[in-house]
Amino acid sequence: MRYELMLPREIRAAIDGNWPVVLAVGVLEYHGEHMAVGMDTLAVVRILEILETDANLVILPPFSYGAASYAVEPPEGTGTLHVDAEALMPLAKAMFTGLLRIGFRNIHLVIHHQTENFAAGMPTDLAFKLAARQAIFAFLEAQRGEGWWGAKSMADYYEQQSTGGDPFNWIKAHPLMPSSLMEGYPFDHAGQGETSLLMALLPEGVDISRISEDQWYSRSAREATLELGLQGRDRILAHLRKALGVERANAQGARN
Ligand SMILES: [Zn+2]
Repeated sequence: MRYELMLPREIRAAIDGNWPVVLAVGVLEYHGEHMAVGMDTLAVVRILEILETDANLVILPPFSYGAASYAVEPPEGTGTLHVDAEALMPLAKAMFTGLLRIGFRNIHLVIHHQTENFAAGMPTDLAFKLAARQAIFAFLEAQRGEGWWGAKSMADYYEQQSTGGDPFNWIKAHPLMPSSLMEGYPFDHAGQGETSLLMALLPEGVDISRISEDQWYSRSAREATLELGLQGRDRILAHLRKALGVERANAQGARN
């Protein structure tokens, strides 16, 4: 369900059912002459919309104003809109604090921009990941007081780590395409992989007649096909079903 359309009754049911609450984090960045600047955010949004048709999922309004960087092209006339990671951090921390205050404990963010080495991180995802950690620490201290971790009741902390019982599992970050997926699908910027994917997810975001020969990174877009994009889409869906813990055709939950 789209969060902004939910009634308080449905929000309470989603909290009780521990539904995943998912935020698409992305950027507005030049993706060659043939692709929409919102590619990195739009791809995540479309995938979440598909997942939501057969799973209990809360989709937050997407966040598009990440740290795009001007590494690909300068902004003048290209459409790249960059916001520094330092500015994102307090905003993201406030958003996560708000979501924890509402009662959500199964929060996820999904990002596609600059995720080729997700473990090391890049400014946008690092800002959101650090913000998530800081929001959780502050929330726990406000709720339980200092010394909460050392308290006797936390003696099973290390056993709880792999499950939802660990508070640091309340907010998780996932790349749209993990490294395992990249082994069989081209990861690129505005090239064959991204162009194929957007053809499958949002065809109006692609105009293949505009592919430019001038830029090395978008040249491979000439080999983009709908078929490849559909393969990428299905592999992403399988990866995120697992990452978010949502099953197909889950009939139970707040919808009833
Ligand atoms: Zn991209």
